[in-house]
Amino acid sequence: MVSIIDLPKTASGMKKEDKELFDRFFKVRLNTGELAFPKEMIGWADKTFGNHKDLEKQKIVYVLNKLIYEGALFNEIRSKRPVAAKSNEDTIAQIHSSEGDPFCKPLTGTPKDTFGRIKGRYCTTASNVAKYDALHGLIVFSKHNPLEFTEKELQDYFDTALKWVEAGNKKYPNAKYPFILWNCLWRAAASIIHGHMQMVLGEETHYAEAEYYNKIRLDYAKDYGGNYWDDLYKIHNSIGLGLELGKSKVFLNVAPRKDKEITIISDAFDKNFVKAIYSSLDTLRKEFHMESFNLGIIMPPIEKKHLFKKNAPNEWTGFPIIARIVDRGALSSKSGDIAGMEMFARTPVIETDPYKVMEKLKENFK
Ligand SMILES: [Zn+2]
Repeated sequence: MVSIIDLPKTASGMKKEDKELFDRFFKVRLNTGELAFPKEMIGWADKTFGNHKDLEKQKIVYVLNKLIYEGALFNEIRSKRPVAAKSNEDTIAQIHSSEGDPFCKPLTGTPKDTFGRIKGRYCTTASNVAKYDALHGLIVFSKHNPLEFTEKELQDYFDTALKWVEAGNKKYPNAKYPFILWNCLWRAAASIIHGHMQMVLGEETHYAEAEYYNKIRLDYAKDYGGNYWDDLYKIHNSIGLGLELGKSKVFLNVAPRKDKEITIISDAFDKNFVKAIYSSLDTLRKEFHMESFNLGIIMPPIEKKHLFKKNAPNEWTGFPIIARIVDRGALSSKSGDIAGMEMFARTPVIETDPYKVMEKLKENFK
């Protein structure tokens, strides 16, 4: 199987036109990290890593997206490590032990928004007690365990979230900038175990990442005459890291924010888009034993204009809906996965080879 470590070779073997596009976005380098063990450490290294010789010369690939200044480091040794075989029983017990929490009885255990509660078939909305922003709601799942979800339930959660966005905008017409997020379990910073998603609806400007991506997209169209997101997908597809489901484009970013990042872009928040999200989560859950994750969905504004630039051209036209998922590691692990490299070097260290994830996604998307 092709590996992310082969990316410089894969890129240099591309067709001229594809290679030019690749080089427009990415800078890639391959280096070897070397070390020498004292003989006293060899036994330990063999036991821990299989063969100490693999550690003496470690191939490392660095990828930089030059257009947005986001990079990632992939180490051959880390990416060769086997996937954890099963969930820790203690963490499953911990999820069950919190059953009977206030979210299990949302009508009496959670506040509602001033525009009321929206009920889905498998969920209900609630107003967040301590808000990120003025409009901050929750989708409280009927099921307690957030890792037990079906495609039908996910469709219902998102339908209900979109209805909440609509209702919030109707009551507060200046609130037009939606963002949907799901922090699943404590590694992903969820303070409540019970399954829930969140929605925020900003006023006046969009959240920073959406504003930034829109600027990048408009600059890209001016400089190159193309569509940033379509071209980014095209590159990933040409190196074997993309697939399509209806009008949804799914890819494994070579400069991801964190481990196993899957990006899904679509022009519409339709059934196929949710199906692509479901299949991605399901693949990570079943094939990679993902237990804790962040999902974020950036959407264009409800009215595609800035409030403070009323006569400006419709500058959000063509902005896609962008969903991103990252795995936050095993629930039993005590060390965090966001450290100095992620926080201040904007260069996350990635554990899993994106090609391994794409191989499983392709099987599951059939
Ligand atoms: Zn519960």
